[in-house]
Amino acid sequence: MTPQEQRLHYPLGDQLPAPGDTLEVAPGVFWLRMGLPFALDHINLWLLRDERDGVMGWTAVDCGIDNPLTRQHWQAVLDKHLQGAPLWRVIVTHMHPDHLGLGHWLCDQWQATLWISFTDYQAAQLATLHRDSFGGEGAAQFFQSHGLHDPASLDQVRARSTYYAGMVPQVPSQFHRLQDKQKLLINGQTWQCISGYGHAPEHMALYQAEQGLLISGDMVLPRISTNVSVYDAEPEADNLRLFLESIDKFKPLPSDTLTLPSHGKPFVGLHERIAQLHAHHRDRLEEVLQACAQTACSAHDVLPVLFKRPLDLHQTTFAMGEAVAHLHCLWHAGRLKRMQDAQGVWRFTSAAASPL
Ligand SMILES: [Zn+2]
Repeated sequence: MTPQEQRLHYPLGDQLPAPGDTLEVAPGVFWLRMGLPFALDHINLWLLRDERDGVMGWTAVDCGIDNPLTRQHWQAVLDKHLQGAPLWRVIVTHMHPDHLGLGHWLCDQWQATLWISFTDYQAAQLATLHRDSFGGEGAAQFFQSHGLHDPASLDQVRARSTYYAGMVPQVPSQFHRLQDKQKLLINGQTWQCISGYGHAPEHMALYQAEQGLLISGDMVLPRISTNVSVYDAEPEADNLRLFLESIDKFKPLPSDTLTLPSHGKPFVGLHERIAQLHAHHRDRLEEVLQACAQTACSAHDVLPVLFKRPLDLHQTTFAMGEAVAHLHCLWHAGRLKRMQDAQGVWRFTSAAASPL
């Protein structure tokens, strides 16, 4: 456990739901954990009891990726846990493959409705058609313009154009729109949507005041910092600023809120974690600023500043998006200025060094 994590409280200790099983974290709120074939090896999903007019049913929050093992584990949960009651609704916090992947399968099986933000629904539809920002020629050119020149890395980015569709082969043909501050009645209790930006196009967290629960999705995670990247489709995005502003929207929630994150364990200590995330990014931004005061840096140049550990090829390509996000945060704030060098690479230098 990191020293930062020790400042958080994990009320369930080391308990984890077994694959294909559930763990009740609050009355009527069940935790499922599905494997992922990444360094980040699992995702948490939530199953909420949802009785309507005396008829027993369920609402799922997030789905896991579409692969045989996740289907198998879901099927075990459905057979054992739902007791024949229908799955009415599938809520998806955001469009990333580990959250939306099996949405089509769950909705088809139960004639359940998909609930997601309009923005993420549209982005997911496009991404299943291979028009995503995770890979392909556009992404390769974008990273090249930020200093990534190694041919093997660029080839890997190009090859990733099927990355999304491989895990989300299709998206349900209809959806219900989730919006900020929208209230959903689930099992007679009110869950309020809280929108968040910078990680996904329009992420929705869900807060339920009666039991003091926050389904935080990927916006607040207890152990790792949320991936905040800039992609080629929105090349001048200021996603780190958006992310930091978004997590502050959770500050008015009570300090004893039980946060149910998409990765890691349920925890109490939301405000501590928000402060840690701000401190983490403030330190990284300061280091990037110092590096750019020495010499004009590309995003590729600041990788060793941001990531102290050696990065393999796969990690390098993902880290590039995060490096651009940090540089853009400083650039949009007027702390850095940028120029394109003779090779077409964006280089960032201290805005104070010479007048604009
Ligand atoms: Zn995500």
